Amino acid sequence: MTTIHLKPKKEESLLRFHPWVFSGAIQRIEGKPTEGELARVVDCNQNFLAIGHYQIGSIAVRAVSFVDTEIDANFWQQKIKNAYQLRVAIGLVSTNNNSYRLIHGEGDSLPGLIVDVYDDTAVMQAHSIGMHLTRIQLAEAIVNSISEIKNVYYKSETTLPFKASIEPEDGYLIGSNTKEYKAIENGLEFQVDWLRGQKTGFFIDQRENRTLLEHYSKGKSVLNMFCYTGGFSVYAMRGGATEVHSVDSSAKAIELTNKNIELNFPNDSRHAAYDEDAFKYLNANEQKYDIIVLDPPAFAKHREAVRNALKGYKRLNAKGLEKIKPGGILFTFSCSQVITKEQFRLAVFSAAAETGRNVRILHQLSQPADHPINIYHPEGEYLKGLVLWVE
Ligand code: SAH
Repeated sequence: MTTIHLKPKKEESLLRFHPWVFSGAIQRIEGKPTEGELARVVDCNQNFLAIGHYQIGSIAVRAVSFVDTEIDANFWQQKIKNAYQLRVAIGLVSTNNNSYRLIHGEGDSLPGLIVDVYDDTAVMQAHSIGMHLTRIQLAEAIVNSISEIKNVYYKSETTLPFKASIEPEDGYLIGSNTKEYKAIENGLEFQVDWLRGQKTGFFIDQRENRTLLEHYSKGKSVLNMFCYTGGFSVYAMRGGATEVHSVDSSAKAIELTNKNIELNFPNDSRHAAYDEDAFKYLNANEQKYDIIVLDPPAFAKHREAVRNALKGYKRLNAKGLEKIKPGGILFTFSCSQVITKEQFRLAVFSAAAETGRNVRILHQLSQPADHPINIYHPEGEYLKGLVLWVE
């Protein structure tokens, strides 16, 4: 195995179990590792620090173990079992709920790997070449560790570094599933299309926040902006909303939203969906709502985009706030990892100040328990939300 020698004092973050080694921390590489290979990392005195996947780029190593051990099928299986046990322990695996995130990258000590489960199918996404090369072993570890899972679908065409030119192909690694598929989340049914959908087909990360919306929806008119599969809308309907409007600029998303509403509330005239750009809709529509949900795609995917993204959040939230009735509630989110809680808050507050509305914070939201944050890798906290009372 290749050995990566760090410069003096560059071992500190690994000693604190932060799983990344930046290329600038490397003194020399002993051997000629190919991308995705496992490498041992040592300090300048040859002391063992970690084993991880090597990759060309600013993050040169993603550590999978801080113990000097064999990285074999058994190792991966143990990691998957640990992750599954956590999801069982927190009550996410039941007849009332069969969709959950099984592996959340660094949060489950498996940097570069995401696995979402929908009933008997696991959808796996590699974000590093190391995880891509380990995909078969990982898929086997998943079905060997979790008896309910029969199929593993691999979906990494858009998540792997483009420069690596490994051209991954999406498809089933184990089993196959051709039936029209329904995931159950808190007793509600959703059709999940992992073949054509965004990410792994569904945004599991809003589960708890959708439950909160349900709690506030009784007798209210609700606008679900950036609805995608209609998750928030379905919960608002169950919560007793009198009117629910779902908006998304993707026709496919609107089709999915209508399907999911129909699955849970057939022929229910309280709901209407619009295939429209968010700003166009908010500008053209005179209607005001009791509750508005703003859950846009990440406005900033990297640091250089932060400034413009913050302007975008401010503009969007100002528009949203304008459309809320006095005594209404705004659910507003950012899923941009590079934007901090404080930055997002400030953008929303300056939007509020601009509109002159009196605003108070009811809740500060984050990601759910199956998207755990590794305390040694706080960067893993990406989802931020505010629930605001708007006078
Ligand atoms: N709230 C959703 C997830 C939203 S993902 C859930 O709970 O599942 C972001 C969505 O925003 C995508 O479906 C995308 O199609 C939509 N979108 C992106 N740009 C948009 C725009 N300018 N106007 C309206 N929708 C947009």
